[in-house]
Amino acid sequence: MRIPTSRRTVLGAGAAAGAAVLLAPGAAEAGTRAGAPAGRVLRPGDTGYDAEVSPFNLNQIPRPGVVFAAAGADDVRAAVRYAAVRRAPVGVLATGHQPSVPIGPDAVLVSTRAMRGVTIDPRRRVARVQAGALWSDVVDRALEHGLAPLNGSTPTVGVVGYTLGGGLSPTLGRKHGYAADHVRAIDLVSADGRLRTVTARSDAELFFGLRGGKSNFGLVTALEFGLFPVPTMYGGAIMVDGRDAARLLHAYRAWVRRVPDAMSSSVALLRLPDVPQVPAPLRGKLVASLRIAYAGRADTGEALVRPLRAVATPLSDTVAEMPYAAYPAIHSDPTTPTSAYERTGLLRTLDADAVDALIAAVGPDARTPIAAVEIRHLGGALARQPRYPSAISHRDAAFTLFVAGIGGPAEAPVIRRAAADVIRRMRPWSTGGMYLNFMNTDDVSADSVRAAYRPDVHRRLVALKRRVDPHNTFRLNHNIAPR
Ligand SMILES: Cc1cc2nc3c(=O)[nH]c(=O)nc-3n(C[C@H](O)[C@H](O)[C@H](O)COP(=O)(O)OP(=O)(O)OC[C@H]3O[C@@H](n4cnc5c(N)ncnc54)[C@H](O)[C@@H]3O)c2cc1C
Repeated sequence: MRIPTSRRTVLGAGAAAGAAVLLAPGAAEAGTRAGAPAGRVLRPGDTGYDAEVSPFNLNQIPRPGVVFAAAGADDVRAAVRYAAVRRAPVGVLATGHQPSVPIGPDAVLVSTRAMRGVTIDPRRRVARVQAGALWSDVVDRALEHGLAPLNGSTPTVGVVGYTLGGGLSPTLGRKHGYAADHVRAIDLVSADGRLRTVTARSDAELFFGLRGGKSNFGLVTALEFGLFPVPTMYGGAIMVDGRDAARLLHAYRAWVRRVPDAMSSSVALLRLPDVPQVPAPLRGKLVASLRIAYAGRADTGEALVRPLRAVATPLSDTVAEMPYAAYPAIHSDPTTPTSAYERTGLLRTLDADAVDALIAAVGPDARTPIAAVEIRHLGGALARQPRYPSAISHRDAAFTLFVAGIGGPAEAPVIRRAAADVIRRMRPWSTGGMYLNFMNTDDVSADSVRAAYRPDVHRRLVALKRRVDPHNTFRLNHNIAPR
């Protein structure tokens, strides 16, 4: 990777220095001595810059002073060293599914888009992926060996960001726990620009913090994690009219108490747009979508789902025996970039009053710009501590709550108010905690980040941050400050 030195570019200083630093020719080269990097360095106005920084969630587009489009670990080292010389903050972007704080001209951004390598070791049942791998890269490769990862709902989400935030699999999560629970090794570039492999043995505290602390302790260049034999899957989605949403949710809250760990599920209230891409019976409607993923025999799955099928006449029902590869159809999440404003919370219970409150806020009679509200069932293996404890907290929560509205800056104030209103109305059932992966631009305050962790875990993470990133180089995220 050649870092251009012909132009003098102003990089704002990091918080530690508090002063602007001029990029001096020669100083930049210091960052390139780590190896023989092959990526590109781009600045605003350069061809390819806009495409490189373009995120999935368009509500906040990074505009870093310089972006390192990394091709490998050496490029990531080069970027961190380059930033260290200038005391500039460093951010990382794989897909841009989870914006946090703005990334401006004072920042160095590492883009891992080109680092998509995946290796499967079927004997050890382990996948090794580079920093920019997407779930679509991993699932198909693992399936070739009869194995499955604890992937998320969407093939276009990045494996590393997902896993470092917990990794709540809508297919196998309740059966096997969080994706982070099964991480074996993490290749990391730390604030000192060193590349190291972190395992439970090499540095137990860093291994603890990375799994749940995301990019606070460094940039991951590769991840190794366990895979599981592919189960027979019985799954899909049952959509009912929004007028039946209350009945479905009341039945659901009783139903989840009796389901086995092999059953993962959620209910989403979706205000579907009136566009041709949406099937005719659902177009322009408020619907409740029951998402089912049963990792077991179809006849057992069918018997488990029967009581919910009886609640209302569905608008559509795709729940059936399915190949694992068809998992994206369970949630049918959007796959094209869009601008969304999101809020989240964790619920300790979903009682009758909670369902009524949710329906009052976003049900058929609510006038709201909220496009999606999801209640996802936790528990099962997600509630159990893994062999090697991690920073993932709040394992006692019963459900995640996720609220999203789609719109640009003009709609943002109205959406944000409405999303905050849903969170406020659901507060009586909230644990007060949050699930890190579902936190976006409106959940970035120090208090919000603290809410993602148990108090004792947060204290440990602050101490770890002081040790490995005392100048808070990695602060363009849901930040754990070193104080
Ligand atoms: C449509 C949709 C569906 C989703 N489904 C699920 C789901 O089923 N389960 C679930 O748990 N989550 C889910 N998520 C949330 C998702 O896991 C997070 O948004 C995750 O952070 C995305 O990672 P990314 O790399 O794709 O995003 P990015 O925005 O590129 O990265 C987000 C953050 O991840 C961290 N990160 C990324 N790469 C690195 C790296 N190399 N080193 C260190 N830190 C890094 C950084 O903190 C970065 O700011 C979903 C999100 C969306 C938008």
